[in-house]
Amino acid sequence: MELRILKQAGFEEVVLGFDPESGLRAIIAIHSTKLGPALGGIRMLPYADEEAALKDVLLLARAMSYKAAAAHLKLGGGKAVIIGDPVIRKTVPLLRAMGQFVNQLQGRYIAAKDAGITTDDLVEISKVTKYVTGLPKSMNGSGDPSPWTAIGILEGIRACVEEQMGRIRLQGLTAAIQGVGHVGFSLAELLHEKKVRLIISDTNVELLQRAQKNFNAEVVAPDEIYSVKADIFSPCALGGIINDETTPKLQCSIIAGGANNQLADETKHDEALLKRGILYAPDYIINAGGLINIYSRDILKEKDSLPRIQKIHDNLVGIFHVAREKKIGPAQAANQMTETFLDSEPKDR
Ligand code: NAD
Repeated sequence: MELRILKQAGFEEVVLGFDPESGLRAIIAIHSTKLGPALGGIRMLPYADEEAALKDVLLLARAMSYKAAAAHLKLGGGKAVIIGDPVIRKTVPLLRAMGQFVNQLQGRYIAAKDAGITTDDLVEISKVTKYVTGLPKSMNGSGDPSPWTAIGILEGIRACVEEQMGRIRLQGLTAAIQGVGHVGFSLAELLHEKKVRLIISDTNVELLQRAQKNFNAEVVAPDEIYSVKADIFSPCALGGIINDETTPKLQCSIIAGGANNQLADETKHDEALLKRGILYAPDYIINAGGLINIYSRDILKEKDSLPRIQKIHDNLVGIFHVAREKKIGPAQAANQMTETFLDSEPKDR
């Protein structure tokens, strides 16, 4: 394996790994290990070139530092990308080579699953390195993080409803969920149990019908989900969906969902939502449940991660309080608060 250090301002360590035998070409980016080892998923995508892969991995690694710090975890932020189409290029030797690459960083980077990588792939990688999280439950791992992400989102929705509507009970409210995949479906299940009326959209007809049947949900077309009348809009599919085009259409009073990078422009659209009186739950705060579960179960070896995940509620309450006091949007408030954690000395959390 050939390793090449890529110097990047603001990052602790960025390494390119190349294994001619298996064809592995991958980058591991460690943004920060100040609060703990840098945990983040491995993503495999057919990036146009090394530069595109580098850009993606740097953004993602930094976002992981923010997510972990904001959730008060003793974890840093990192991410890995494998350059190549997973359908064509993913082989056992390539995954094993990736495991060796992860191993070379001696635990400063801890791997997990991301787009293009399955739990079975993680199992293969774990044959070569112990620095892997999210292994199946049958291997004593924490398994699929999605149901835990959904539990965290439900906690976040409770905080939003208290802040925006001054009520505790969710019963009788309407939620519009964009995407009923892993996270969206679990969230729909939890909201349905709380007697929340559901409106859903998905581009996958099978998944849509499954959720419709199970939760008696109203189905709308993908581009209609922004303008439906609902108390809560929950993006659980894609990033960048709060943008110039969609913001004026919104008829909800709360945005609280699992998707990463929901605001197309963090500053501009945070302010636009504030102006419209729509309460936005910053994505990396409300969708941290899966990461918290991995930390609790795989790193700390705790039996029950729920108490830690439930803290998402209080975390958001604190952010909304600061946003209100400073008359700024919640995304800005969350960033300001998180940056103070990232700059401070690690405490026992
Ligand atoms: P997923 O692929 O299982 O589900 C996404 C769903 O969105 C799919 O069913 C897909 O068909 C649907 N979709 C795609 N385009 C759409 C569109 N235009 N309109 C409506 N639906 C559309 O993914 P997931 O694991 O549920 O993750 C969803 C989002 O949450 C992603 O942005 C992911 O990065 C983020 N996230 C997931 C987790 C987790 O634990 N899985 C944790 C944090 C953040």
